[in-house]
Amino acid sequence: MSSENAAGGTGGEVPAEDGAERTVWDVVVVGAGPAGASAAYAAAVAGRRVLLLEKAELPRYKTCGGGIIGPSRDALPPGFELPLRERVHAVTFSLDGRLTRTRRSRNMLFGLINRPEFDQGLVDCAVEAGAELRTGVTVSRVEQHGPTVPDRRTVAVVLSGEEEPVLARAVVGADGSASRIGAHVGVTMDQVDLGLEAEIPVPPSVAEDWAGRVQIDWGPLPGSYGWVFPKGDTLTVGVISARGEGAATKRYLEQFIARLGLSGFEPHLSSGHLTRCRTEDSPLSRGRVLVCGDAAGLLEPWTREGISFALRSGRLAGEWAVRMAEARDAVETRRQALNYAFAVKAGLGVEMGIGRRLYGVFARKPGLLHAALTGFRPAWNVFARFTRGATSMPEIVRSHPVARRALDRLDRSGAADRTG
Ligand SMILES: Cc1cc2nc3c(=O)[nH]c(=O)nc-3n(C[C@H](O)[C@H](O)[C@H](O)COP(=O)(O)OP(=O)(O)OC[C@H]3O[C@@H](n4cnc5c(N)ncnc54)[C@H](O)[C@@H]3O)c2cc1C
Repeated sequence: MSSENAAGGTGGEVPAEDGAERTVWDVVVVGAGPAGASAAYAAAVAGRRVLLLEKAELPRYKTCGGGIIGPSRDALPPGFELPLRERVHAVTFSLDGRLTRTRRSRNMLFGLINRPEFDQGLVDCAVEAGAELRTGVTVSRVEQHGPTVPDRRTVAVVLSGEEEPVLARAVVGADGSASRIGAHVGVTMDQVDLGLEAEIPVPPSVAEDWAGRVQIDWGPLPGSYGWVFPKGDTLTVGVISARGEGAATKRYLEQFIARLGLSGFEPHLSSGHLTRCRTEDSPLSRGRVLVCGDAAGLLEPWTREGISFALRSGRLAGEWAVRMAEARDAVETRRQALNYAFAVKAGLGVEMGIGRRLYGVFARKPGLLHAALTGFRPAWNVFARFTRGATSMPEIVRSHPVARRALDRLDRSGAADRTG
């Protein structure tokens, strides 16, 4: 068996039963969304042999608002040109259709993209960095023991309808919120939401009204909200709410669209997708398999913003998969897996912790949040700085004693409500 490849990796070939040699990739990435493309890019720029597997043909649609906040922009590969469809300078806030107020900013707050185009661009970056892409292939499972696995340093990635598994020294699971790799790793979730969206083509007079402006509506169901994200001649209108309230969530979307005066325009696409947030102690790896992005339940619990989490955790997973691919034994593999988990928890984990607390407050008192953002300028300024990427949730809580005390007090009152 060859153990070093020309690129400096540890993959190579293993003999097959028929005497032919079989490729062992350094890193196989499952799923070519933002998380998978970032992981493949990170491992490929490190000079490793990387295979990126995607079940869809690209470009593919993904139910998503396509909001790109500062942390997403900052986590893009160097030189990546954001295919922005809209630059947002104003936000109209409403509370279940009432108390509507628009806040404006001279500086751009965040950008809006179409996912097929954005995701394709990220995959192109990974391929240019040297990753090989296979589309139209569904991974059915991974095996780390048994007859399909030639040795203890190899993982077999089994593809639907193909007899021969793909072999890898390390696997990154980036296969989204219904992840099979996440199930293999044992990822557990504590918040599952259903997002519904309609892509609504509108005439120029309507599109003009939305240019540079989004709407955010705090919804009627606990923890729900709706949005209008304009992208030129199409408005992405969506709502999100806890899973299990499918009919009420659908009704909320219909009412939201009607209130906006958009019922007369036929959506060219309507779709739904679940978002899942991991439990704090959920695993991020098993053996030589790491998970990232939605597959790991890495998502901001309050806004359900997930692109920055996918890009950032994907890059970390790619970097650590490279080290894991080089691991000679189980102890070294475990050490690299723990390092990956530590890196994720120290950054994204802390952000998720604050997001969970904000979600708790928001689910109980959406009116309070609405009043703060529309009636209290410092709160709007913090929101604007956050969306631009000038500050982060942990930084806001650290550096604003008033915000910290308010959150602590609301946390305590929430706990009292729950027990009393
Ligand atoms: C309604 C809604 C609106 C949202 N709006 C925003 C927003 O405005 N901004 C934001 O930041 N986040 C938003 N999110 C969250 C964001 O869409 C996700 O967090 C993000 O797409 C996660 O990226 P990912 O790469 O982990 O997963 P995905 O983008 O889901 O990519 C996973 C990929 O894996 C592939 N795949 C799945 N299974 C297999 C398999 N077995 N074999 C091979 N390939 C497989 C899929 O085809 C897919 O291409 C929204 C989510 C929803 C539901």
